[in-house]
Amino acid sequence: MSKCKGYAALEARAPLGPYSFERREAREHDIVIDIKYCGVCHSDIHQTRDEWSKYQEESIFPMVPGHEIAGIVEAVGNKVTKYKVGDKVGVGCFVDSCRTCSECRQGLEQYCTVGTIWTYNGRDKEGKPTYGGYSDKIVVDENYALRMPENLPLDACAPLLCAGITLYSPLKHWNAGPGKKVAIIGLGGLGHMGVKLAHALGAEVTVLSQSLKKQADGKRLGADHFYATSDPETFTKLAGYFDLIINTVSAPIDWNAYLNLLKTDGTMVIVGLPEKDIPLGAFSLTARRRSVAGSQIGGIRETQEMLDFCAKHGVACDIEIVPIQKINEAYERVLKSDVRYRFVIDMASLRK
Ligand SMILES: [Zn+2]
Ligand SMILES: [Zn+2]
Repeated sequence: MSKCKGYAALEARAPLGPYSFERREAREHDIVIDIKYCGVCHSDIHQTRDEWSKYQEESIFPMVPGHEIAGIVEAVGNKVTKYKVGDKVGVGCFVDSCRTCSECRQGLEQYCTVGTIWTYNGRDKEGKPTYGGYSDKIVVDENYALRMPENLPLDACAPLLCAGITLYSPLKHWNAGPGKKVAIIGLGGLGHMGVKLAHALGAEVTVLSQSLKKQADGKRLGADHFYATSDPETFTKLAGYFDLIINTVSAPIDWNAYLNLLKTDGTMVIVGLPEKDIPLGAFSLTARRRSVAGSQIGGIRETQEMLDFCAKHGVACDIEIVPIQKINEAYERVLKSDVRYRFVIDMASLRK
């Protein structure tokens, strides 16, 4: 075992503080990553506050969150072939899966039917808790690591590993591209990546935001149109307009009003996770053969494809760097949507 330093919630809802723990020694297919940056995802807050207990078997404390991990390979096991010491690598939301179910064989490890092994608040194949990226190092099988873009700053790429792939996967699956009209609901950490990626894919992109406050930003990020959803006219003007709507917000919305913005055969995809069940009128769907769908991050193959796409198109996240000592304040600001658009922890601060 090797000693690691990090920040953890010692129990549910406790503020995060310094924590020492152990990780396994590198096995033959493992790489050891010196973590340079870790993005702050809204789900880190949900999980350290045990707000998803309904959907999870257990929450494991002390919990070291963080699943937007970017760093440099510092050691490799003797059978590692994909990476070498010094490579820029990343780890996203999961660190292993069964590798044999039909989902795993298709590269859809995030939907592993035996059980995806999450980067933190999960249990590895020996039943030991997994610890995330708010820490100095992580040990991961080379098959569950990603190669980070060489030409882009590592800090701004860290959030691609959750926020980026969460939007890229549904955009690709539902064929966002030239000639397609895509709407992104909400311009936060997820939404701003949706705008950048849909634009880079060649789709016409519209932001549907509560107010016009972020309009200039939305246009700068690549949006063609920007509408306030507090204005009822938005819903008459855009009726039947979109091929694809991606909902990134977890706040309650009027689902039927938004569904009415889809054209025939259009799809609305849920990627934000509202706490309450969603109320849907059947007519909103049947009237134009519309669909409501959900999507959860992406597999390793697709995540690598997304990173390579971002490298090619110069797409990274808009970030604000914070030292680990300010993590609890950063959480409060995330809850108030007071960040443009993602906090990234500079892990050098952990060594201070
Ligand atoms: Zn996340
Ligand atoms: Zn599997």
